[in-house]
Amino acid sequence: MIYDYIVIGSGYGGLSAAALLVKQGFSVLILESHVAIGGCASFFKRKEFTFDVGATTLSGVLPHQPLGRLFEQINIKPNIEKLDPGMIIYQKNKKITRYSDKNKWINEASEKFNSEQKGFWDEIYNIESMSWQLIKQNYRMPPTKLSDLIHLAKPSNLRFIKLLPGLIRPVTDLLKKYDLDKNEDFVEFVDEQLLISTQTTSSLAPYLTSAIGLSYPSETYYPYGGIYKPLEMVLDYFKSAKGEIKFKEKVTNISETKEGYQLTTKKGSIYHSKGIVSNIPIWNMANITEGSIKKYFVSKSDKFKTAWGAFTMYFAIEDKMDLETAYYQIHSANPLPYCSGKSFFVSFSLRDDFKKSPKGWRTVTISAHTNTSEWENISEDEYNRRKEALEKEIFENFDNFFPQLKDAEKLYINAGTPNTFKFFTNRHKGYVGGIPHSIKRTLLQMPPNVTPFKNLYLVGDTVFPGQGLPSVVLGSLNIVDVITHRGI
Ligand SMILES: Cc1cc2nc3c(=O)[nH]c(=O)nc-3n(C[C@H](O)[C@H](O)[C@H](O)COP(=O)(O)OP(=O)(O)OC[C@H]3O[C@@H](n4cnc5c(N)ncnc54)[C@H](O)[C@@H]3O)c2cc1C
Repeated sequence: MIYDYIVIGSGYGGLSAAALLVKQGFSVLILESHVAIGGCASFFKRKEFTFDVGATTLSGVLPHQPLGRLFEQINIKPNIEKLDPGMIIYQKNKKITRYSDKNKWINEASEKFNSEQKGFWDEIYNIESMSWQLIKQNYRMPPTKLSDLIHLAKPSNLRFIKLLPGLIRPVTDLLKKYDLDKNEDFVEFVDEQLLISTQTTSSLAPYLTSAIGLSYPSETYYPYGGIYKPLEMVLDYFKSAKGEIKFKEKVTNISETKEGYQLTTKKGSIYHSKGIVSNIPIWNMANITEGSIKKYFVSKSDKFKTAWGAFTMYFAIEDKMDLETAYYQIHSANPLPYCSGKSFFVSFSLRDDFKKSPKGWRTVTISAHTNTSEWENISEDEYNRRKEALEKEIFENFDNFFPQLKDAEKLYINAGTPNTFKFFTNRHKGYVGGIPHSIKRTLLQMPPNVTPFKNLYLVGDTVFPGQGLPSVVLGSLNIVDVITHRGI
């Protein structure tokens, strides 16, 4: 059988593209190397507990935003709840509450950072709102052909011209504009919020994409049962529309054929398709392709040599404390060993989420940014020593900031490093979180979703528009629009 499209990988990128393709009437097969869907937004179970492996927070679900559009197009209604506050940040002796209401948040920020914050946040929220409008009406991004540029030059886009400087100007410029660049605590706060959204800090983060990253805690949703649950509904839709998925099928080679492509897997299975939508990172694509296609991916991935790794911790904990939200960012008192940022992110399951943990318990996922090189080329003893040192530091902070949980029983304590992500998701070097945004190369220079090869497309967090579930799903919405217009 020759499928219209084979989708490689069933992360949020691959599975949403696959669902939208079957909706358009294409025959689609997904090949997934792992035993479950989700990739960096997957899960694992221990007895009656379910743990998110990486991503935990859902955003971009309003009707005009990517996940909202996906859910609407395939008519699913995931069980999600808006959290207010969307996040709480503990920084030094401050507790900073990210209220959902804009004015309440501006008052909170002004008070906690002892400064006038209205101008800064008004501009951030304004850019964010315009960016979503720009994104919604332009699916041919980044432009790869003259016709895409002509499409972008339509009159309804003229009002967005004022957003352009935000592609090459850093957040630091906005901080200066509102006299906030010398406010060290505020700059640290902004940097750590940017690190979990744009993967970089204020001096390098372009303020256009940063506006979306900085505003997301005002529209943060909790997915009941785990972050993979909405994606599971996407899978159900995909299967009901006659899409096929095969697990434990790691694609190891792609070659061109007369009809399109031949894909070979580690097990030795061979599949044929007219087209491919690849959900795997661009670095990985360079390893499984040949000839001119390989050359293309080597040249693309060579431009983006590094990305972050993640250190993660997972455990179940007795529910001994009332919590105001599910999501906390903790600025560590001491530098976290082998980590690069100053903070780590703690996600609790909600008290009434009995799909994740039984009554009286919660599950916890913690993540921090680390350099993958800290975990490479070291002995097993050294690897374990580093893991233990970091776990200890994180637990000490955890006990400080959640004192009522200090004596709570913890079960199934586990930690993950970039090596763990590499093992379970196959991501090159365990790089996660896509390619950090930077003013040094604009968003439009990110690898595009369209390649020069016939019917070979890319989705996922290492291609336009980048990391995080809303961006990844946006890439899939855009590419299926392109495919639908082009046909096969
Ligand atoms: C610790 C952490 C916390 C995060 N927190 C958030 C958050 O709270 N909110 C948010 O929006 N984003 C968050 N992110 C980012 C988000 O998880 C990712 O950007 C997103 O999940 C990436 O999706 P993807 O589809 O691009 O790739 P992936 O999730 O990596 O999916 C790729 C899939 O391809 C499969 N695969 C790989 N190689 C092959 C092969 N050769 N053959 C077949 N299959 C293959 C993998 O098994 C995987 O299932 C977080 C990321 C991390 C690591």
